[in-house]
Amino acid sequence: MKNDVTEPARKTPLLGEYEVVVLGGGPAGIAAALAAGRRGRSTLLIERYGFLGGAGTAAGLSTFCGLHAVVYGRHEQVIHGIADDILDRLRAMDGLNDPHLTVQNKITAQAYDISAYKIAADELLAEAKVKIMFHALGAGAVMASEDRIEALLVETKSGRYAVRGRIFVDASGDGDLAAWAGAPYEIGDGAGNMLYPSTMFRINGVDPVEAGNAWELIPALMEEAQKSGQRFPRKKPIVRPQRNPIEWRANLTQIKNPDGTAVSGIDAAQLSYGEIEGRRQCWDVFQFIKRVTPGFQNAYIVEIAPQIGIRETRRIAGEYTLSEEDILGCRDFDDAIGVNGWPVEAHIKGDVKFVFTAAGSRGFNQIPYRIILPQRVENLLVAGRCASMTHEGQSSARVTGPCFVMGQAAGTAADLALANDVTPREVDVRALQARLQTDGAFLGRDTEAARAVHQE
Ligand SMILES: Cc1cc2nc3c(=O)[nH]c(=O)nc-3n(C[C@H](O)[C@H](O)[C@H](O)COP(=O)(O)OP(=O)(O)OC[C@H]3O[C@@H](n4cnc5c(N)ncnc54)[C@H](O)[C@@H]3O)c2cc1C
Repeated sequence: MKNDVTEPARKTPLLGEYEVVVLGGGPAGIAAALAAGRRGRSTLLIERYGFLGGAGTAAGLSTFCGLHAVVYGRHEQVIHGIADDILDRLRAMDGLNDPHLTVQNKITAQAYDISAYKIAADELLAEAKVKIMFHALGAGAVMASEDRIEALLVETKSGRYAVRGRIFVDASGDGDLAAWAGAPYEIGDGAGNMLYPSTMFRINGVDPVEAGNAWELIPALMEEAQKSGQRFPRKKPIVRPQRNPIEWRANLTQIKNPDGTAVSGIDAAQLSYGEIEGRRQCWDVFQFIKRVTPGFQNAYIVEIAPQIGIRETRRIAGEYTLSEEDILGCRDFDDAIGVNGWPVEAHIKGDVKFVFTAAGSRGFNQIPYRIILPQRVENLLVAGRCASMTHEGQSSARVTGPCFVMGQAAGTAADLALANDVTPREVDVRALQARLQTDGAFLGRDTEAARAVHQE
């Protein structure tokens, strides 16, 4: 039996021609499309689901991490610009919690309402005149030459289309477009290990008064039960209340293949297995929580996230690769486009390991423009969790805050490249930085002044 099929050559209808084409509507893609659209660029955002938010909605996260850092001992929001616009919109919709301390009370995160986030993103992009094509799966690239993408191919319910673009932004999380275009990339830690995925779920019907600070009790109860032989998918569970405290979110599963390796987000068979395994874990661990936690006796699972949460797949090899040393050393870069203050959060087998910058340090590193510039392909930027970072570096800078930073910089750089008729690699970094600052971004400068203020 032949193990392949030859498809007939085909002419693919053109869906349109745009100045900027963004693949993927997660935090990086939302910010990239907004930045380009607000500058008047004709911009198309392609998203395989029927809503925006990426893992933040599809994988049920409901918490922004990495917007804050511990700056010389003080918890501060350090990601600004488009991130502020999204927070403001969510706040106006009453869809935003106040920031809370998390990870042993060492860092700040901020929870949001998932439905509000979807609508806030729809509205902001509509105001920026970005065209969105939902239910469109990016499926390949047509190259104009070895180093230039001519068109992105998409599969939709009404058939296969091509979308021409002058500049493309790969914000797929998986580096799909970069891989199709032939940009070099890495997967995992070089020894076949990727960060483990998790399936998230939300619990409703909690009695908030009786539950109290159950986010501290649940990990203790699970640890106690482990001693008597009960098995859970991983240590360090996170179970916390949402805006309305009758609803709690749960991040405590870990999805392994039968051989113990992390389920791969770019392997269709493993993804299919992982969805089923993830839901099973949610159900099992919820039965335990319901049984032992005060205030949870009438609770139920209101939603298991629509998809398994994938933390890491491809990471491009860019002009620079952000490392763990850069993060823990709070490193500065001449081509800074923003900052990242989230700890290194390694989802290893059975556990989550956090490594923080030194106590009393500035608490964040700058993010260099070069990590969103792929090698080899000239009209492409790659923003978000698939940007150029080491496995360990990505364990930190993959969270939402730095993804907003990379996306805003990618959309802004696309506009500058078009305005000056240069490639993204040739963009004047000083002009990019000036534009980002005008648009509200914090690049992590003037921190000596900040240190003086904080030490007063
Ligand atoms: C279980 C889990 C829990 C996490 N918890 C948190 C948390 O609490 N807070 C936090 O800040 N971060 C958390 N993270 C990290 C989070 O994944 C990243 O912050 C962030 O979502 C990555 O953003 P992104 O834009 O790079 O990619 P994604 O969020 O992955 O978005 C990529 C988008 O591209 C779309 N897409 C992909 N391929 C295609 C294609 N071929 N065609 C069309 N569309 C495509 C996807 O549907 C998606 O919308 C968590 C991650 C996981 C997996």
